[in-house]
Amino acid sequence: MTTEWNAGRLDSDLDQAAFDTLAVRAGQHRTAEGEHSEALFPTSSYVFRSAADAAARFAGEQPGNVYSRYTNPTVRAFEERIAALEGAEQAVATASGMSAILSIAMSLCSAGDHVLVSRSVFGSTISLFEKYLKRFGVQVDYVPLSDLAAWEGAFKPNTRLLFVESPSNPLAELVDIAALGKIAHAHGALLAVDNCFCTPALQQPLQLGADIVMHSATKYIDGQGRALGGVVAGSAKLMESVVGFLRTAGPTLSPFNAWIFLKGLETLRIRMQAHCASALQLAQWLEIQPGIEHVYYSGLASHPQHELAKRQQKDFGAVVSFEVKGGKQAAWRFIDATRVISITTNLGDTKTTIAHPASTSHGRLSAEERASAGIKDSLIRVAVGLEDIADLKADLARGLAAL
Ligand SMILES: *Cc1c(COP(=O)(O)O)cnc(C)c1O
Repeated sequence: MTTEWNAGRLDSDLDQAAFDTLAVRAGQHRTAEGEHSEALFPTSSYVFRSAADAAARFAGEQPGNVYSRYTNPTVRAFEERIAALEGAEQAVATASGMSAILSIAMSLCSAGDHVLVSRSVFGSTISLFEKYLKRFGVQVDYVPLSDLAAWEGAFKPNTRLLFVESPSNPLAELVDIAALGKIAHAHGALLAVDNCFCTPALQQPLQLGADIVMHSATKYIDGQGRALGGVVAGSAKLMESVVGFLRTAGPTLSPFNAWIFLKGLETLRIRMQAHCASALQLAQWLEIQPGIEHVYYSGLASHPQHELAKRQQKDFGAVVSFEVKGGKQAAWRFIDATRVISITTNLGDTKTTIAHPASTSHGRLSAEERASAGIKDSLIRVAVGLEDIADLKADLARGLAAL
């Protein structure tokens, strides 16, 4: 739709552009209206100039949109921007983080394949593999995230995919992604990383040697708790399979949500910087409070993987977990005493949230499974938002006083 007078002037020249420039401008293809902000295309289908045109598009002989389950310009802008930020050949947007994981599994695994999943992944991820993928003949085993020898020992001849979340929720455990990528490739398997907690602003798994990176865009990519979405990125060859599944099965991203995420990405790096700065301050402060037994935050020297976190990530993330003295009752009293922080399990929001993992996100696990995942009854998780740090400290001090 570029006209003669503005040819080549509507889109930005992004050759050699750095992260912050890509976050603001990548993927935008302006229409002849010359809109400055990204256009939103809420349309389910597209019209053709003629019957012959329609036939050519359906036959794949002519490029262009056919139907928004296949392609949508706003969704494509979001995909191109994520691909630029993750350094991927291609990205594919999905309706949620869970549908991103589902589409990875459905497009890359077949009955009889073996998948290795890190033990401390998101609860619904475990349910997806355990309750559904196993029913279709996919074998699944779980490996302690940071233990490279355990990964090495868990391979079978049919191991096809490794799926990890690093850093993990809620204990901020890490795996050396470069080392795990080498191990996966030596066994002919692919490594997929759920990069939800770091975002590309803090960690780019593909650059470290992973094959696939995925996000729940619902979290920091939106950043303001408004919309559900997800995205998968990697080589064009792998993404071709993911696109094939998505177009057929339909968990595609709505253009409206894609537009929200485009705007979220523009401020992602400075938001992450602010989230991380507050999280580090709170973690350091909590660590010296008398009612606190242990703080889990990779930015603390006391964290067993502090050095790896410094090497692998640009910052330490915004999830701070801690154990209080006095078990579950004390943890609940702490949570109930806060007055500013929201009691909810969501994260990646401007609003700070507080939750009790043992009775919420990890509540369906047996006591034994929780113990093996290191989730104690006295554990509290805080996902640090963007409020003033003094107000957050004052609110957590109410929790400490209630112990
Ligand atoms: C929230 C989350 C998911 C699932 O994403 P949805 O958008 O809620 O479907 C997957 N992985 C991690 C690490 C998450 O935090």
